[in-house]
Amino acid sequence: MSSPTIGVLALQGDVAEHRGALQRAGAQVVAVRRPNQLAGLDGILLPGGESTTIDKLLRAFGLMDPLRTAIRGGLPAYGSCAGMILLADRLVDGRSDQQTIGGIDMTVRRNAFGRQVDSFESTVHMPLVGDSPMRAVFIRAPWVEATGEGVEILGRVEDGPAAGRIVAVRQGNIIATSFHPEVTADFRVHDAFVDLVRLSAAS
Ligand code: GLN
Repeated sequence: MSSPTIGVLALQGDVAEHRGALQRAGAQVVAVRRPNQLAGLDGILLPGGESTTIDKLLRAFGLMDPLRTAIRGGLPAYGSCAGMILLADRLVDGRSDQQTIGGIDMTVRRNAFGRQVDSFESTVHMPLVGDSPMRAVFIRAPWVEATGEGVEILGRVEDGPAAGRIVAVRQGNIIATSFHPEVTADFRVHDAFVDLVRLSAAS
């Protein structure tokens, strides 16, 4: 499949930037706001934003359960920042009533770098996307605190006090990054995700 159809959850966040990066990688993109828009998708991207708000909107729009069913059923997914939070099976420092979609056997700490740390950048080597490192931009970002057996660690913070923290993971067809590749001109994570969707659609 040369041109898979990928949904971008369009409730909040950098929808246009993700759309552009996916189209550049050869995908057709559908903005998803309603459950019936999940039909026919080969993959789904969950942008950053505010995970408590996205959780509320997912439930209000009737998207939470269909997304859980689709992702558990094998729909490839990529979540960035709040999208990583949504893909976590377990959450630390969420709101007391906060729910996630789940899909990756990991514990994610919300606002992990400190509430006062609005944004920072670090180098992150991600062999999945090539030898040269990503310039990763973190915005009130989570990190991955613990991973289950089936989870592959794709990248860690390399600079500053949080060096060593896990910020990119993969479990099967699901990828998550704490950082926002859509705000840089480096779209290799999107390229890798579109490749993963193509492989999964072909198998
Ligand atoms: N801190 C946000 C949250 O808890 C995530 C921030 C982001 O997506 N840039 O959802």
